[in-house]
Amino acid sequence: MRDLVLVLGDQLDLGASAFDGFDAAQDAVWMAEVAGESTHTWSSQPRIAMFLSGMRHFAAALRETGRPLHYRALDDPATRGGLAEQLREDIARLRPRRLVLTQPGDWRVLQALRGVASEAGLALDLREDRHFFTTPAEFAAHAAARDGRGLRMEFFYREQRERLGILMEGSRPLGGRWNFDTDNRHAFTPDGPGFDLPQPPRFAPDAVTRGVIALVRERFGSHPGRLDSFAWPLTRAQALKALDAFVTERLPLFGPYQDAMWPGEPWLYHAQLSAALNLKLLTPHEVVAAAQAAVRTGSVPLASGEGFIRQILGWREYVRGIYWTQMPGYAALNALDAHEPLPPWYWTGDTDMACLRDAITQTLAHGYAHHIQRLMVTGLYALLLGVEPAQVHGWYLSVYVDAVEWVELPNTLGMSQYADGGLMASKPYAASGQYIARQSPLCRSCRYRPAERTGPDACPVTTLYWDFLLRHAARLAANPRMAGPLQQLARLPQAERQLVRAQADAHRRPS
Ligand code: FAD
Ligand code: SF4
Repeated sequence: MRDLVLVLGDQLDLGASAFDGFDAAQDAVWMAEVAGESTHTWSSQPRIAMFLSGMRHFAAALRETGRPLHYRALDDPATRGGLAEQLREDIARLRPRRLVLTQPGDWRVLQALRGVASEAGLALDLREDRHFFTTPAEFAAHAAARDGRGLRMEFFYREQRERLGILMEGSRPLGGRWNFDTDNRHAFTPDGPGFDLPQPPRFAPDAVTRGVIALVRERFGSHPGRLDSFAWPLTRAQALKALDAFVTERLPLFGPYQDAMWPGEPWLYHAQLSAALNLKLLTPHEVVAAAQAAVRTGSVPLASGEGFIRQILGWREYVRGIYWTQMPGYAALNALDAHEPLPPWYWTGDTDMACLRDAITQTLAHGYAHHIQRLMVTGLYALLLGVEPAQVHGWYLSVYVDAVEWVELPNTLGMSQYADGGLMASKPYAASGQYIARQSPLCRSCRYRPAERTGPDACPVTTLYWDFLLRHAARLAANPRMAGPLQQLARLPQAERQLVRAQADAHRRPS
């Protein structure tokens, strides 16, 4: 054998760079379902099912193309527990002259595979992942050019728009503005999203997925999350259908409602395309092209189209750049010196705080929550409570079907927990319960009152918000974006400060 092409669970594209020059007469593909990838973090059942079923569908597509495939199934008793272990054994049996791999999405996996290649004395041909607009080297160059001025997503995003000519009119941004945030981000009226809220396509499990679901229940039944409503796109054809339905039906109102929450409505106007993008069933190029075309033909308002494109061309690329330029040290950062344990009810949703109960219950049911639920509910509470960032990272990497470390880690550690001290975000995403009250009706059905910071009905999010400001005032004093909250804090009487601290401590450690 000449080349053994390694395909990981998030590399499910027949056109991936690892296949460039593939010759079925002398090369073969290697894929392995190993238990270790579901247990190194306590992966939720929906996330495991997403990856395994995606891999099995991709294996079928590979076989159809006639590419020889060595596939290790999880339920084959001969399959080893870890990726490196399995590869080592298969190299000894298959004796390839070289290993070929598209850049993986996880630093740990890259190190493990490099280790196996070097032990075996084999060259590892590591190829660029074409499923991004920017390579890690290009991002590093951008970061170096901003030296001294700090990294900020907005500047990176504008450069991307100009470089790639996306939503541009000559050298000017389409519509005269780079950013339409002020037109976006409304809450729903008290009547809610209404009966005409378009529901995204859901894909009933086929025989392959039903087999995977049974296997996951059998092997990982004690892992969090449920599989009874599992209906994610798992093939390229399904992912394209999901993209088309999103652009036609939900993208027009994506912008206005991108920060809104409504109980019992997990999908709203969001794309639900992150898992398909991260598993490489879709390319960001085709997603951005579809959104841009809809803006140009007038079927999608510019504010919505720009807001959506910014998430992909801006945030998604930016977090990947942060990951590959900062790892491995990034995972250990803890700038706010936070050491509380993650509350055990993050794994069950069993809490009397309505916002957290709603977001976590939905997460466990679907393996999905939209950005504001992740950032301004589960992430916000962990930040304010002072949970150790590594434990928060473990939870986010476990529970979402779209979780791959390159995207999950900077979002969790940097954006949501401010553990990188401001590399990702210009200030901590700290807010009181009144933010949640503005963006959703959740507080109306909660036993707590979002405007109250102390007393028996005080909202824990609000109490913890003031406690957060008290605990970190000195550390955040030099940050101009924190001036407003810190001025409000300065007006808080001493006696009230003590009450806040006592109530926050009692909330952390109930007697
Ligand atoms: P939409 O809201 O419809 O957005 C469209 C697309 O933009 C998404 O599909 C996604 O590809 C991209 N996108 C939007 N925001 C971001 C962002 N901040 N970073 C990267 N891409 C973005 N996203 C993941 O893909 N995997 C993760 O593991 C993940 N973990 C997160 C953890 C935390 C704490 C936070 C705050 C955010 C996380 N995100 C993650 C980003 C974002 O929340 C999800 O991409 C989004 O909710 C996915 O749902 P959607 O496809 O409906 O997205
Ligand atoms: Fe959440 Fe506080 Fe609102 Fe209850 S009152 S839903 S805890 S923000």
